[in-house]
Amino acid sequence: MRTFDYVRAVDTQEVVRLLADDPAASCLAGGTTQLDLMKDGVLEPPRLIDITRLPLHGIERRGESLHVGALVTMEELAADATVAERLPVVREALLLGASVQLRNMATIGGNLLQRTRCRYFRDPTVQACNKRAPDSGCAAVEGVARMHAVLGASERCIALHASDLAVALVALDALVHVQGVSERRTVPLTEFYLTADESPRRENVLEHAELITEVEIPLPPAAARSGYLKVRDRASYEFALASAAVLLLLDGGTIRRARVGLGGVGTKPWRAYEAEHVLTGAPATTATFTDAAEATMRDAFTVPGTAFKVPLARRTLVRELQTVSGVTA
Ligand SMILES: Cc1cc2nc3c(=O)[nH]c(=O)nc-3n(C[C@H](O)[C@H](O)[C@H](O)COP(=O)(O)OP(=O)(O)OC[C@H]3O[C@@H](n4cnc5c(N)ncnc54)[C@H](O)[C@@H]3O)c2cc1C
Ligand code: SF4
Repeated sequence: MRTFDYVRAVDTQEVVRLLADDPAASCLAGGTTQLDLMKDGVLEPPRLIDITRLPLHGIERRGESLHVGALVTMEELAADATVAERLPVVREALLLGASVQLRNMATIGGNLLQRTRCRYFRDPTVQACNKRAPDSGCAAVEGVARMHAVLGASERCIALHASDLAVALVALDALVHVQGVSERRTVPLTEFYLTADESPRRENVLEHAELITEVEIPLPPAAARSGYLKVRDRASYEFALASAAVLLLLDGGTIRRARVGLGGVGTKPWRAYEAEHVLTGAPATTATFTDAAEATMRDAFTVPGTAFKVPLARRTLVRELQTVSGVTA
């Protein structure tokens, strides 16, 4: 049995000070990722700082933005009236994730910071894992890689980022509010994550002594349509093989604005700028949607276990563009 200190903090400044004092300490929110990794022996923090008593539980609409406290649960956010009315893509991404029991514990901050499900990362007996042990290699590249990434991947690491919510939020240009020891900062979610190719070990720009306090979601125009499609091995309680978050603003048969996020394929929640470029100003037709999907997957890095994901992701995106636009021809 491994022992560790447990501290229950009550304010944000206390948490960042505790983190600054101990480079190996870690936060505990809903615990659905953190405790799993500790039980598996992947993480061994000497001190756990329980942040669940911090005043970060609110959801508030301010003008045309929704401000979501980092400790709001997935289930609470999915039930919010503004989310139901203006952000169907967020609601669908949340409700297609995990199980209701997990969603009642799991927080929004923790969801964005969840670690990869790569089985080699989660098994400390595996030696070759650049994410756990820098420069040790990557067991997944020649291993079982069905649940791995093709975008932002390389021979160094093909670990998938598994959050569904983050895929919807990158498409919506959400912002992450962060509290550090002496300053606060706001980071666009599109700039928050690093690809595994850039840095297998470090997955995002959060410093050790920084806390996510809030996520800010700009509300799209009322006329915009959005949705989330998740393709997985079974109908519930399973991570995505491929997913697409789509937001479209149509003017007759022309696409005026397009925002696209892809999941199940990226080492970070993937904003598909190439697809948006093809879609914007183009007629809403299946031919346009197919061109957009082709453009997005052009630079995919595949290994034998992940090659199927390229056509799967293309079809997933085309299908969701058809559903959101109401255009099948
Ligand atoms: C069986 C299973 C199935 C799942 N299926 C899905 C799925 O289909 N889709 C999906 O998206 N997710 C899925 N998940 C992941 C789940 O959504 C996450 O585990 C959960 O959202 C993490 O939130 P938490 O509050 O429990 O985080 P914790 O486990 O408490 O923390 C996770 C990490 O974030 C850090 N952290 C937490 N909050 C903050 C903060 N505010 N500031 C700084 N650091 C913080 C912690 O230190 C830790 O490193 C699944 C999980 C399990 C166990
Ligand atoms: S894919 Fe990344 S996390 Fe998985 S074994 Fe390879 S280096 Fe480690």
